[in-house]
Amino acid sequence: MAAKRESQAALAARAAEIGRRLAAEYPDAKCRLNHSSPFELLLATILAAQCTDDKVNEVTAAFFTRANTPQAIARMRRSTLEAAFRPTGFFRNKARSVHEMSKTLVKKFGGQVPDDMDDLVSLPGVARKTANVVRATCFGLPAIITDTHVIRLSGRMGLTRNTAPERIERDLMRLLPQESWSTFSHAMLFHGRAVCGAKRPACEACVVADLCPSACAFPHFAKQRSSLL
Ligand code: SF4
Repeated sequence: MAAKRESQAALAARAAEIGRRLAAEYPDAKCRLNHSSPFELLLATILAAQCTDDKVNEVTAAFFTRANTPQAIARMRRSTLEAAFRPTGFFRNKARSVHEMSKTLVKKFGGQVPDDMDDLVSLPGVARKTANVVRATCFGLPAIITDTHVIRLSGRMGLTRNTAPERIERDLMRLLPQESWSTFSHAMLFHGRAVCGAKRPACEACVVADLCPSACAFPHFAKQRSSLL
């Protein structure tokens, strides 16, 4: 399939079909970060940078029993936050982001997590990806979540030629119907974890292989082919 010759309409139709198949393949795909409020999810999403969801859930399970509101965290010492977040990596930066984000929520938003994109990204440590996770999961708003899996898979599938998350988000928003954005994001994320891994995508087991211009175009498939000759 030559992606460069594909019309915008054909690309949109292919993207929609990919979305339909992946949604059917992963009907339970959703955010795996445990939380009981938008604030808890915002904090967990900040901790999830360069860290597994399981590790974040382990850390937040203990931490949220001590503090789970912006008011409580704004009053904490930075060193306490650093110690709590240490297992998630990059703990000094994450502690600073969570601390400043909490203080800003108290000062500017009455301690409430806003659902507006501009308000969310005005919070320290909150980029569009984090904001979109919260908007989709807690507020039921349409959102494309450009996490590492969505970025990798969108490129392999030829749904974007861009590499910058914000441009990929824009490309996918143009291609897909708004009501499918959140489901598409979560299904892509699950597919990236289960089948289309970074190093050895399992194209032979992929439900969208016939729609993907990168299917079996990886070194491990070349080795398999040559061993059959
Ligand atoms: S065919 Fe291969 S590269 Fe394409 S989405 Fe499926 S696993 Fe990923």
